[in-house]
Amino acid sequence: MQRSITVLHINAETYEMTNLMNNGKISTFINEEIEKIILQKIHTSDFENFNLLMGDQTYEIRVGKDPSNDYMCLITPRLHRSLEHSIELEMKLRDQQAKLFEIAKSSKISKETLVYSMQSVCETISDLIDCERIGIWLFDEEHRILTVQNVYDLRFNTHTNNAEFLDMHEFPTYFQAVKGARALAVNDVSVDHRVSELYPTYFESVGGIKSMLDAPIILSSGIGGVLSCESLTKRVWTELDETLVGTLADLVAFLFERVLRMEAENQVRDLAYIDQLTGLSNQNAFITKANEELKQDEEMIFAYLQLDQFSNIQDVLGFESGEVVLKQTANRLTTIFPEPAHVARIGFDHFAVCFNEKWVPNYEIQLHELKKPMNIDNQEVYMTYSYGVSHYPSHGSTAKECLQRAQIALNDGRKYFSRGVTAAFIPDMIEVSKSDLQVEMNLRKGLDFEEFTLFYQPQMNCQTNQVEGFEALIRWNHPERGLVTPIEFISLAESTGLILPIGEWVIRQAFKQLQNWKEQGRGHFTISVNISPRHFLHERLASFLETCLIEYKIHPEKLMIEITENVAMEDYVSVQSRIKELRQLGFSVSIDDFGTGFSAFVYLQHFPIQEIKIDRHFIREIIENPKSFAIVKTIVELAKDLELRVITEGIETEEQLEMVRAIGCDIIQGYYYSKPLPIHEMEEWLAQRV
Ligand code: C2E
Ligand code: MG
Ligand code: MG
Repeated sequence: MQRSITVLHINAETYEMTNLMNNGKISTFINEEIEKIILQKIHTSDFENFNLLMGDQTYEIRVGKDPSNDYMCLITPRLHRSLEHSIELEMKLRDQQAKLFEIAKSSKISKETLVYSMQSVCETISDLIDCERIGIWLFDEEHRILTVQNVYDLRFNTHTNNAEFLDMHEFPTYFQAVKGARALAVNDVSVDHRVSELYPTYFESVGGIKSMLDAPIILSSGIGGVLSCESLTKRVWTELDETLVGTLADLVAFLFERVLRMEAENQVRDLAYIDQLTGLSNQNAFITKANEELKQDEEMIFAYLQLDQFSNIQDVLGFESGEVVLKQTANRLTTIFPEPAHVARIGFDHFAVCFNEKWVPNYEIQLHELKKPMNIDNQEVYMTYSYGVSHYPSHGSTAKECLQRAQIALNDGRKYFSRGVTAAFIPDMIEVSKSDLQVEMNLRKGLDFEEFTLFYQPQMNCQTNQVEGFEALIRWNHPERGLVTPIEFISLAESTGLILPIGEWVIRQAFKQLQNWKEQGRGHFTISVNISPRHFLHERLASFLETCLIEYKIHPEKLMIEITENVAMEDYVSVQSRIKELRQLGFSVSIDDFGTGFSAFVYLQHFPIQEIKIDRHFIREIIENPKSFAIVKTIVELAKDLELRVITEGIETEEQLEMVRAIGCDIIQGYYYSKPLPIHEMEEWLAQRV
């Protein structure tokens, strides 16, 4: 006969049944007929209780929905016939069962709400079997110490949780007995050997107990505790008492099981939705919550925010301080964007915010808070950040789309500046970013398949008409697109970090070429290479160059390093020390496209450079625009005063050549002499000159 209760969980979609009480196994008494009946109840949403007779046992069946909209079914054997005499008792028991079932189904069930359920169970049992002290005890994790969770004392009508406990190692016989029985009925505690370890100390200490009835609370992990009924008068426990206490112990077990499961589920959910470092939502949770917030007629703003150069800062400060920076950033963001705005950490140093402008007016200004110094280990740390924004519903119809677009905006802004970027999404960016992605994927392939090549353009001394050297300009020999110019892929390589291997490849090629020329007795030629800002500031640059010097046995004067003015937009101090470092190795640094950026004169004043290259835009207009002429003239004079070499770029005509020669320019680069050419064509060009 099946005497314990069974609780089935029924998946609402598949109707698959699992028993929540019996380690997931379906009880043997549940046959196809019962399954059919239960499913019928579900299909017709008929959640009334009903009884089912199986052999000589009647089962009471109760069906309901649980918080996740699946079904639960409670199957309880009806009590022994002798109880049926007492209709009142049975009613009470059913009531209690129904109550517990409701609690177990509720999504609000927790350790705290459980206290009330335990109190209610204890009172009911005390009433049903007329017993003075009812306790619920639970084991610790090691299954060793049994601690009181709740004791109801009928005499004083009190519930206590007085931290009473029993160490199982001191009471092995009792423990064995209670574990092995559906209910351990002891009519006289003073003579029963199964409780002799507890007698008299324990029974005396709780007020002179004469009889006891204990039922194990069995969880799927094994025995989890004990439901104890203690009587101040000696009595003979009936089978009915045992069944009743056993059944209620099962229900209590079920409740505990549910709480444990819910706690485990919550923990899993936390791991899946909460960023463990900052306590903010993670990307999954952000998308879910933000989607819930989106309403057709209300504009929302999505911001994708990233700390600038965080990994560098973490390298300097150490990992732990880096974490503090992230936590403080998270705190600041939640202060600037309080609920109902959503703030999330969606990656290493990436954050996302979704809000309505009405909630956070002037958010751009408020975001300045992030720039305030942070005190980390008694050190003031200044962080800057960049962000892109997109708007719902104009830029996307879901949170995911809007977030992606804010990120696209940020990436787009980052192509031009690396710090303090604020960029708003514009739909054109999608096309650009799609083709960017395409190019990037192929860029890697390009490197692997050696599709890059260097073209060389001569730099002529216009006073002596001699070749001084060459600028090496990269080309991509794309299998489908043919020759691709650097404008199309350098900025992308820069923003994806691929510029490093590409830049190093260029440097190596240049050294190889210098070595070839040296071997051919043309060791006086120089080669200028273009180094992008990110590569220039990379810590590996100097050591890489040094390795090449040794490997190719080339004098550092033969390789010119060209950087653009934009580099100075980066960290001024780092740029200055990098230039010094290269200088110490013997390299010369040249400022390319001089005059086009904002910081031309910063270079001249503060950086130990050796050369400037006047941008070809000034040359293009030099004939017809007196201003251009004046600018070029001033730059050349200034450079001469500072003893810098000047190269004029973009000379296409004889007229332009004469003009710059007259101004005093010495080195010329431009189509007038030659376009950039592959090395063998450049060799031919050279051969023709002599
Ligand atoms: P840049 O360093 O200022 O190079 C000069 C550019 O002007 C080259 O374009 C060259 O072909 C072009 N040019 C030279 N003379 C004339 C002329 O008389 N008229 C006209 N209209 N143009 C002339 P290119 O090769 O397309 O390179 C464009 C830019 O790409 C370069 O500007 C440089 O900033 C970058 N770049 C090229 N190679 C590399 C590289 O290996 N690494 C990096 N990081 N950037 C590179
Ligand atoms: Mg250049
Ligand atoms: Mg240039």
